[in-house]
This record gives sequence, structure tokens and C-alpha cells, in this order.
Amino acid sequence: MFARRRILNAYPLKGGACRGDESYSIPSGPFYASVFEQFGSEAQCEAALETARWPEGFRCPICGKAGHSEFRVGARKMFQCRACRTQTSLIAGTLFQSTHLGLTTWFLAIYLIS
Ligand SMILES: [Zn+2]
Repeated sequence: MFARRRILNAYPLKGGACRGDESYSIPSGPFYASVFEQFGSEAQCEAALETARWPEGFRCPICGKAGHSEFRVGARKMFQCRACRTQTSLIAGTLFQSTHLGLTTWFLAIYLIS
């Protein structure tokens, strides 16, 4: 909460404050513009997560090979190893694995508390 308050206080906000506390204001301003510029879409969040997870490109978690194909199951991005046919989702094994929330929501939350 301290970090969020500090972040919010560091940037001018627009919108009406509630209970006389600017931390309840409607988010806007340069900080939020920057967050939404970088992580405003699921595709941007997926790309950031993919790079963080596999900085040098996808590697099969079972056999370690790089060859793969990509597909989607609903909104979930999946990878299938060409060598052993193992299927892995982008979020499998991450803290996002069991969530029903979009990555954009998580990324904003992480940004706010870090
Ligand atoms: Zn494999």
C-alpha cells in the first residue's frame, strides 16, 4: 500500500478524489499511460511473459528442445514441442496458472505493488 500511495502521489492525477484521499482517485497521468503503453493489451503481456520465461526462445520443459508450434486453446497461448509433442501453456508453472483474470490485470497489479 505504501508503494502504491507513493507511486500515486508521485504523479498528478485527474478525476475526483474520494474521502479526501488522492489515492482513491481515478487512475490517469504519466505513470498509468506508461503502464498501459507497455502492458495495455493481452498480446503485450503475453510477449513480456514469454520473454521473461524463455529469454532465448521457447524450450520444452521436458526435453529442452527449441522446435515447437504455437496454437491457442480459447484465449490461452500454447506451445507444442516438435520433438516429444509435450504441450505447455504460456502461463503453466507461473503464478498466473490458475487465474481467470487477464494478464493485463495482473501486470497492472504487479506494477502497482512493486
Ligand atoms: Zn519436448
